[in-house]
Amino acid sequence: MTVARLGAIEAGGTKFVLAAGDGPTAIAASHTIPTTTPEETLSQALAWFQDQGPLQGLGIASFGPVELDRGSSEWGHILKTPKPGWSHCDLAGYFVRHLSVPVGFETDVNGAALGEHGFGAGQGVASLTYVTVGTGIGGGAISNGRLVHGAGHPELGHIYSRRDADDRDFAGTCPFHGDCLEGLASGPAILARWGATLSELPQDHAAHNLVAGYLAQMCHTVFASMAVETIVLGGGVMKAPGLLERVVRQARELGAGYLPKSEVRRIVPPSLGDRAGITGAMLIAQRAAAGGS
Ligand code: ZN
Repeated sequence: MTVARLGAIEAGGTKFVLAAGDGPTAIAASHTIPTTTPEETLSQALAWFQDQGPLQGLGIASFGPVELDRGSSEWGHILKTPKPGWSHCDLAGYFVRHLSVPVGFETDVNGAALGEHGFGAGQGVASLTYVTVGTGIGGGAISNGRLVHGAGHPELGHIYSRRDADDRDFAGTCPFHGDCLEGLASGPAILARWGATLSELPQDHAAHNLVAGYLAQMCHTVFASMAVETIVLGGGVMKAPGLLERVVRQARELGAGYLPKSEVRRIVPPSLGDRAGITGAMLIAQRAAAGGS
């Protein structure tokens, strides 16, 4: 039996992680290149894949916003993004044309959700949401084993939070909404407000509970709206010591014991660490090679 040779891309705003191998748990080679211009980054990625031998499928998990609707003429494109040069880039189409393989295309957080669901912290659960808290805040959701698609993809970073009574003055950093969740609790928002990262601020600084409180509100909203069993919180901001524990504690307080089956709802770190996205991109490649999308 021949094993499909697969390629995977985790396309981020600062770097592209590339991988090739026989499956999500059989990555034979990987490579990282910086995200510069589409012309430069995509041609470097293409050259690397061409060195890996013929592929049977390619999976892409990309920063967004992106078009996931296969029926749209912009399927596989990055949409309007603040990242210079990347708006309307035909990311998936580039590899369809140059590699002549089936290409699967998802958001970066959907990729990470797939990875954690298949091989990480969400194994065995029907519904999971993966949220990254870093340069931005984004969430990918799996419900009854399937990724949530619809009018675009979930945009969890842009929900509004109830402002803390002691936190009324900061306008927030989101260029669209000001004080949406991303505008209050992303890495750039924390830096704009306190001039330091959470990890750099002392543990008794008010920033820790404030940021944890906004993230806990998001977790409560996800639990209450989507009947999710597991929320995986990843991204650079979540590496701040003690933050996850604060979020868990505050989310439990906000839940006030009301939600059904509170005992099976968990907020956990990604057990695949930084490999969640590329693992998910391999799963996307596998599906593409098998004829799914
Ligand atoms: Zn926003």
